[in-house]
Amino acid sequence: MIAKVIVDISNSEVDKIFDYSIPSDFELAVGDRVLVPFGSRSIEGFCIKITDCSEGNYKLKDIIKKLDDKPLIKKEMLALSDFMKEKFYLRYVDTLRLFIPSKLRGNKVKALQREFCTLSSSDTELLKSRISPRAKSQLAIIDRLAGGGEYLTVLNTEFSPSVINSLVEKGIITKSKQEVLRKPIGEIDKNINKVTLTETQNKAISIIKNSDKRVVLLHGVTGSGKTEVYMSLIEDALIKGKTAIALVPEISLTPQILRVFRSRFGDDIAMLHSGLSDGERYDEWRRIYDGDAKIVVGARSAIFAPLENLGVIIIDEEHDSSYISESNPRFRTLEVAEFRAKYNDCKVILGSATPSVESYNNARLCKFGLSEMSNRISKNGMPEIKIIDMAQELRTGNFSVFSNELKEKLKETINNGNQAMVFINRRGYASYMQCKSCGYIAKCTDCDIALTYHKEDNMLKCHYCGKRFKPLDICPNCHSDSIKQGKIGTEKVASELQTLLGSSVKILRMDNDTTTTKTAYLDILGAFRRGEAQVLVGTQMIVKGHDFPNVTLVGVLDADMSLYFSDYRSCERTYQLITQVSGRAGRKDKLGEVIIQTYSPKHYLFNFVKNYDYKGFFDKELNTRQVTNFPPFTTIVRILVTNEVEEKSLNCTKKIYDLLKELRVEYGKEFVYMQAMKSPINKIQNKYRYQIVIRIKRKFEDEILGKIYNIVDNNKQGNSVFVEINPQNMS
Ligand code: ADP
Ligand code: ZN
Ligand code: ZN
Repeated sequence: MIAKVIVDISNSEVDKIFDYSIPSDFELAVGDRVLVPFGSRSIEGFCIKITDCSEGNYKLKDIIKKLDDKPLIKKEMLALSDFMKEKFYLRYVDTLRLFIPSKLRGNKVKALQREFCTLSSSDTELLKSRISPRAKSQLAIIDRLAGGGEYLTVLNTEFSPSVINSLVEKGIITKSKQEVLRKPIGEIDKNINKVTLTETQNKAISIIKNSDKRVVLLHGVTGSGKTEVYMSLIEDALIKGKTAIALVPEISLTPQILRVFRSRFGDDIAMLHSGLSDGERYDEWRRIYDGDAKIVVGARSAIFAPLENLGVIIIDEEHDSSYISESNPRFRTLEVAEFRAKYNDCKVILGSATPSVESYNNARLCKFGLSEMSNRISKNGMPEIKIIDMAQELRTGNFSVFSNELKEKLKETINNGNQAMVFINRRGYASYMQCKSCGYIAKCTDCDIALTYHKEDNMLKCHYCGKRFKPLDICPNCHSDSIKQGKIGTEKVASELQTLLGSSVKILRMDNDTTTTKTAYLDILGAFRRGEAQVLVGTQMIVKGHDFPNVTLVGVLDADMSLYFSDYRSCERTYQLITQVSGRAGRKDKLGEVIIQTYSPKHYLFNFVKNYDYKGFFDKELNTRQVTNFPPFTTIVRILVTNEVEEKSLNCTKKIYDLLKELRVEYGKEFVYMQAMKSPINKIQNKYRYQIVIRIKRKFEDEILGKIYNIVDNNKQGNSVFVEINPQNMS
């Protein structure tokens, strides 16, 4: 028999698949990790297929050996690999790298092993009789080990190594190697009590269970108790002897959900996310692979956890953009989840207070099931939201970053012994130009999307069509010359707050600068939870999922910053951000309050936010997308070509563009838009960037995308060429 083996998965940029013959004296299965001869070396590979014929007519070499007892890549994952190859145009190497922790590739492994000491006989009296009764410490060691054994490193801290060694020499202590698992999660919090589910939660659960749809959207307002619903679904899976995956968007969110999950499920949980060391990841992966962990909690890559017999897949905060991997290997988590759910015949649960337009639309179209929870667990209900017009503040002489109302409320909150969160919306900061007096924003005349300011050539540019405009100096709407194009940072806000509130108030700051170390998130969030600070100032990181019972006030500075971010999703993003951050207020027994500061208080979005009217927002947004031909009615494809030699990237772009024009002829009206242009940022790291932006209708999407990928793959001409679908960033 012949094995198709993919080799060198750690380094290779191409799929290196070779045929090897399987020696008759051993059995090989698909998915096995093997050692094979390669040139003059022997290297590691994975068997992805077993056949009885080889295409080449050269003499095949034998596989040297099998490296594990069982195939490392299970059947389901091989099928998933084929699916992802088709769906996302990946290669085997790309998928294998996603499936297997880096420590396991190229045989870099190792399980952590430590020396373990045990007694050579369980008859301690017999052992003791062999040593002098005066050798007190030797006798003590025997007593110490009588209960089972101990790691040598631990024993060394309690007894002198020479005494231990003399017992080893006498054959009384036996040393052996034992594998230790590196456990990344700490102790179980026993203070979390199991709650009785509310009627609403029970109803939501039964709708999910009875749905005939593979994917069910759980739309529950912030604080409606979605976590308990997830846990109940997971418990159900475990009772049936099945397993579960729960995905959360970011590491900063994991400690929270993990704490609750751990108190319920204990050591059944493994976690996988980017904050783990390679060793920890390897050990967690092994626990999952061996079936010792039944529940995996983690970020998007945890969707590839080698669990068998899945009973449910949960994607919490499903609207979060981190579930889409845009750079290689590109994939959409939901589609992978759907594949695994189909394979295991289980459901995918998408949870959010602010579902993505795409997902909610799928629920409306009955492609997804829908289960809703419209009230908070807390009897106080949703916090009241107030919109403050910052232009008005300026007119009345308040030049601070805080409105008078927010200042008052902050003081009041702290005087009452409560906590506040101040959120700074930094997404797309300083990238647009806005009139401070009337809130006017410069938009593209063709695309109705906010223009982005580019400092290097002092131009406003449209990221969708490449059009360029002069920067604003006078507002065309109200003729004011006070044009805003600055940013406020967390540091500045924190220091202004300190001045405002006095030095006795403790303020914590959470942003990219303060969270560079591995434990920083946990430290900051933990300190705030314990009440060691009264105010937490932060960026996007503080928005998600946190459940701090003492937070009664949330302030949102510059709420409109992301509203005009040059992206067709900017309204959606802003709605999600503001609603989520507002959702941090008043979650437990105390009433919450939210203050939103903006220069465009009349924007329709704020009315929906204020009234917690997701459906109203959705209808309006969907209508806009339809009229302007944006997703979910179309799919945006960006082909980005880069090269150090400008002419080369330009020529390649032209070539691909010409071929795409032929494709457009073939498909006619399915192409809504197609244009080649310089990228808005024309040069990054000395590489010149050109791009082709296409919008196609959804009907023949898969077919057309396949052809686009084909054209691109065959015409790279030595350039780096990336195809991005509905990219988050068009610069
Ligand atoms: P969401 O994820 O929907 O924003 P959470 O799951 O964090 O909401 O729940 C909000 C709060 O309500 C948490 O403090 C949680 O412990 C509490 N909670 C949830 N379900 C119940 C229940 N059935 N009884 C009492 N408290 C609950
Ligand atoms: Zn103006
Ligand atoms: Zn435009």
